[in-house]
Amino acid sequence: MEFVVATYLAYATACMFGAASIMQKKGRSGLAGLALGALLGVFGLLIAACLSDKKRDELRIAEINATAAMAEAAAASARAAARQLDAANDTKVCPRCAETVKAAALVCRYCRHEFTAEPA
Ligand SMILES: [Zn+2]
Repeated sequence: MEFVVATYLAYATACMFGAASIMQKKGRSGLAGLALGALLGVFGLLIAACLSDKKRDELRIAEINATAAMAEAAAASARAAARQLDAANDTKVCPRCAETVKAAALVCRYCRHEFTAEPA
């Protein structure tokens, strides 16, 4: 009987510290590992072994956030470039001669057509 108790205690202790050490290696709470091993025995060990590495998860999340920030910056610079292009191409097409003239022009420089207050 004493042998059984001693064996069980050894088993429970091994599970507790095993699970705690696995959890700590993965950047998780060692205390939670102790509880897992104590409550679930070898299954606690298995659960601890199956948990993802928290440090690696955090690294990946940081990586994804950095990538998203870069994409956002790229999109912003693309929008700025498009606005500049629009400003540079601030033109309209003359309805009479079909030539492209500046949007601000009041008179077509090709055919002298007078633009009224029409939308550019
Ligand atoms: Zn014209």
